[in-house]
Amino acid sequence: MTSSFQRLFVCYGACIEGFRWCRPLLFIDVTFLKSKYDGYLISATGKDGNQGTFPFAFGIVDSENEENWSWFFNNLSIVLTAHGRTITLVSGCNKGLAESVSKIFPASHHASCLQYLKQKLFSIYSSMYGKSYGNRIVDLFLKCANAPREAAFEFNMKKLKQEGGALFMTFLEDHPKEYWSYIYFEGNRYGEMCSKLSGSFSSWVFELCTLPICQIVDGIMIKLMELMAEKRFEAEEWKSVLCPEIEKTLNNDLMVCRNYKAYRSSRYVFEVHAGYSMKVDLDNRFCSCHEWQINGFPCAHALVSIQQNNGCIYDYVEDYFKTSYFRSSYATLMSPILDINVMHEIPDDVVIMPPLAKRR
Ligand SMILES: [Zn+2]
Repeated sequence: MTSSFQRLFVCYGACIEGFRWCRPLLFIDVTFLKSKYDGYLISATGKDGNQGTFPFAFGIVDSENEENWSWFFNNLSIVLTAHGRTITLVSGCNKGLAESVSKIFPASHHASCLQYLKQKLFSIYSSMYGKSYGNRIVDLFLKCANAPREAAFEFNMKKLKQEGGALFMTFLEDHPKEYWSYIYFEGNRYGEMCSKLSGSFSSWVFELCTLPICQIVDGIMIKLMELMAEKRFEAEEWKSVLCPEIEKTLNNDLMVCRNYKAYRSSRYVFEVHAGYSMKVDLDNRFCSCHEWQINGFPCAHALVSIQQNNGCIYDYVEDYFKTSYFRSSYATLMSPILDINVMHEIPDDVVIMPPLAKRR
């Protein structure tokens, strides 16, 4: 038993409430803290309906090991249980960690970060056979990862195994296809393939990571409170049904589909001619190009079919991308916190010592 700080998990009530209105996706990342006591900051971040980052929870631990990861995911599962949703976790983690997470968090799906896997493969092959061979292997890997059908996956996988040899077989043992390929992954990624998000949380941590732990926690809380207020004000101005970024994407696709032609096969099924032909099933939100299923909003082939059917496009877009959902995700206020000494009398004998510094 020691009175030293060991580890900490933080998930604010406003984030728990707001995350209900975001896609059930969490991106897991870890950053080394350069403070006097070392340590690691693990974060779980979502994405709001306008494709911005939605900081959800974070933990500070003394080292990056299985016990600390299990502890973090266990806390995460506790706060997410009330939501009753199947969550997809995206991380740069390997099979061992993914398996331990699925034991703690059986209702979740675990996806590997494609950027992390690309870098790993490139580093393995370029260091042994040169950069162009590294690029060739990464190219084949991406064709497998994004293959919309089993036949295309198997065709490219055969080449990858031939050209990648024993090194690739080892890679595949650590990173089974179920974690990274579109057709074998069972969860929903909403088109998100990378765990490193550009934006708020990672940059906040970068700014704060040399400070003592209490100041890091305070700093994150202040920045989060300001971020939620800013986004709340921003969305008050929006007049569109969809969040502006998604509305923009949809408008671009509407321009693209002007020359497409949709031919009806049944009440909801169409054959779309766009220089090639695609099958669209409006009832099942399906297009044979697979973009609709991947992204959660209609592709250009689907849009021309919806128009042909005199349907309302917004009825076919996931609610998570709508302005109303975005507003709800930032609706819960984070109240300013007074200095702890002002609120409570702290007994003299309660003293938490700094963490025991661990050398890396
Ligand atoms: Zn399509």
